[in-house]
Amino acid sequence: MRRRQGLSSMASMWTPSGAPIIPYTFAPGFPAQYQQVVRDAMTFWEQRTCAKYRLATAADTSAIVYNHNANGCSSAVGRRNQRQQLNLAIPGCMTVTIVAHELSHAFGTLHVQSRADREQYVQIDTTNIQKGMEHNFKMEPNGYSTYGIPYEFGSMQHYFPYAFAINQQRPTIYARPAYQKFQGSMDGPRATFWDTVLINKMYKCTDKCPRQMSCQNGGVTDGANCNKCFCPRGWTGTNCERRPSDAEISNVAASSQTVKVEMTNTFTAFQEKLVILQAPAGKRIEATIKSFGPYRFTMCRSVGLEVIPTQDTRTSGIRFCAMPNPSTPIVSDGNTMLLWLYRDANYPVTAEVSVRAV
Ligand SMILES: [Zn+2]
Repeated sequence: MRRRQGLSSMASMWTPSGAPIIPYTFAPGFPAQYQQVVRDAMTFWEQRTCAKYRLATAADTSAIVYNHNANGCSSAVGRRNQRQQLNLAIPGCMTVTIVAHELSHAFGTLHVQSRADREQYVQIDTTNIQKGMEHNFKMEPNGYSTYGIPYEFGSMQHYFPYAFAINQQRPTIYARPAYQKFQGSMDGPRATFWDTVLINKMYKCTDKCPRQMSCQNGGVTDGANCNKCFCPRGWTGTNCERRPSDAEISNVAASSQTVKVEMTNTFTAFQEKLVILQAPAGKRIEATIKSFGPYRFTMCRSVGLEVIPTQDTRTSGIRFCAMPNPSTPIVSDGNTMLLWLYRDANYPVTAEVSVRAV
């Protein structure tokens, strides 16, 4: 179970701002084969932010110590003025996403459902929270900013709906009726656009850039590289001006057609496929999930299909990791829609979606 700590203290930041250096070390005996997962998670953030990780020396007063002798996965929030343990139980915490989640805490983030505005979006069933775990659902202390980032159910920093539940068949976190479609979308497979922008804003990563890029389609100057944009899903190129070359573009007409997207080859590492549905100008796209399988999951962290019906793709979409019942049609707010299939674990996955222009 992932949890946060250090709730009562305001997050301290790593220094210097704009190019933070984060020293780290592995606890003695940390198994070599899992050290690579941790390194991959650090590389993940280095490629998306201005932060750099390096091995701690005796001179470092602040450093992350990766500790494998742990119950669950957890991290202090922000930098402590000492060696701070980042706890990663083996093997349960050994995925790039979970380590990256804990590293986000170490940067100084809390959970999304701890935001001061969370009551607008979710309702917490306090009667179903395990005794002694109530503190995990507290709202954030004063002095913590959202940095103008919207509440995102699909954030990697959002709890999954059954977190700390007494009755595991019942959620502890319910999306409010207006956001019901996101009930299955909480707790994502990778840092989202906003998860990344948050770290970059906190550390003023692009303030040092001689100029801000003119990014299209919602992109922002890349925190790791002043000379390019960091793009929302479905866009790439220096200025987020074009579609990714590995995306499949599928034209959608008035008559229904079935789009099949699958990954059934041997799994070696995180894998994704993007289908860009395109209807004639002025039309919208209606999509209905026809099948998802062969496995079904209760949370979409490892395997899932994300449907992004908005033209603004900065915020993550509606996730499916089991056949929905009923399968309610999703309608886009413009003439494109994204289908993003991903897997972070060794399961074959096939999704069929019926689409038509309306
Ligand atoms: Zn957490």
